[in-house]
Amino acid sequence: MANLSEFCTCKDTKCPLNPANHDKGCSLCIAKCLKLREIPSCFFNLADPEMKKRQSYTFEDFASLFGEK
Ligand code: SF4
Repeated sequence: MANLSEFCTCKDTKCPLNPANHDKGCSLCIAKCLKLREIPSCFFNLADPEMKKRQSYTFEDFASLFGEK
């Protein structure tokens, strides 16, 4: 299966939306994030490379990363 998003840094490879598990690249992840008003985990990973898996990926969670630093 071709991975259109080899740059993806999402660590949740068990997620059915992870591009390692289908051939639709980022589209499924982005669609889910837009629906739930979330930021994709690749942005969290870029902002905080030491970050562990989070319980929540909201806009507010992302903004708070910058408040913590
Ligand atoms: S948008 Fe989603 S699938 Fe695409 S790189 Fe980011 S975390 Fe991975």
